[in-house]
Amino acid sequence: MDWRLECVACGAARGPEGLPTVCDRCGQPWLVRYPDRTWLPAEREEPAREHGMWRWRRFLPLAEGEAPVTLGEGGTPLLALPRWTARHGLGRLVLKDEGVNPTGSFKSRGLSAAITRAAAAGVTCVTIPTAGNAGVAAAAYAARAGLHARVYAPTTTPRPLLSQVVSFGGELVLLDGHIGDCGRASRAWAAESGALDLSTLREPYRIEGKKTLGLELALQWGWRLPSAIIYPAGGGTGLIGMWKAFRELSAARWVSGPLPRMFAVQAAGCAPIVRAFAAGADAAEPWADPWTAASGLRVPAPLGDRLMLAALRESGGGAVAVADDQLAATASEVARLEGVDLSPEGGAALAAAEELAALGVVQAGEDVVVFNTGAGWLYRETGGLPRA
Ligand SMILES: *Cc1c(COP(=O)(O)O)cnc(C)c1O
Repeated sequence: MDWRLECVACGAARGPEGLPTVCDRCGQPWLVRYPDRTWLPAEREEPAREHGMWRWRRFLPLAEGEAPVTLGEGGTPLLALPRWTARHGLGRLVLKDEGVNPTGSFKSRGLSAAITRAAAAGVTCVTIPTAGNAGVAAAAYAARAGLHARVYAPTTTPRPLLSQVVSFGGELVLLDGHIGDCGRASRAWAAESGALDLSTLREPYRIEGKKTLGLELALQWGWRLPSAIIYPAGGGTGLIGMWKAFRELSAARWVSGPLPRMFAVQAAGCAPIVRAFAAGADAAEPWADPWTAASGLRVPAPLGDRLMLAALRESGGGAVAVADDQLAATASEVARLEGVDLSPEGGAALAAAEELAALGVVQAGEDVVVFNTGAGWLYRETGGLPRA
């Protein structure tokens, strides 16, 4: 364990011992910093020999010889969408499909990393607030490590997601409200019971798992990076993690050239980051009465707001909001044209790509990667089946 933790706001540093949550001085997230000698350019081809996200162990918080808690997460495909892109004039766009992860979303990556560290520290019980997919992943990886998981979710969470939590043995607590309300309940229970709270950015390791989205993309792209990335952002771990990955790869000289422009996509019914970006603000104001069927985007007051906004600005990207009927229409169109099962969040990201292209913000000749963050079937209450 030769990494350190550094507070994103005040720069305070500490070692990785114990169970780090947030900086005790300012309440802001810790980020993991590795010693410089961790990466050598000559070794960059080496990760390609294994499958999945732990091939990147040199960029991850894993001690020498330590085995991670894994279900084979990562190693997801980049898919061309030839019929859809021809219809919408987005010739060079590809989709990175995170719906094929073991728990049906990219949340597998973050929770594999977080539960690996929790189990190594001797934790027996974890708790997490969720819009759905994080709870499924927490329950699955906790089961994998032999831990107990309590999952706080809004009553409005799609049923298939909730039933996956229960299938993996998670203790499900349903609350009226949004993920912020679930977060308060989860933290209160953690304080009372001694369970480890795995809320977004309230422990430093989920981000490290999300970082592998960016590391993998660099490998798949032949150690260059695409010119734009379009990502559906709620709590922001995917965006923040990828941006951290790109900066680490660039510092290690594993990639060269400009870093991608990062675009955050939110739902029109809950768009605190889009509003803050448009206003030129460094931080986001909480969104009142958040609602969207893309439950992963229903995060009215993300703790990572400053980090997200900084990544969007530093990269020369932006932020776009998409209406619910539009994201659903895009997901349905892609399923029929391409056989790809987009989550509503993935539908939002592709709909945003169409809009950015129409506005000329993204040009037809640019290499664009759009993320589908989860599998659509986990949201479908009924299948639209014909009557028997
Ligand atoms: C959690 C989630 C998101 C939002 O991810 P963040 O990294 O927290 O911004 C997007 N899509 C899906 C399917 C999710 O589960």
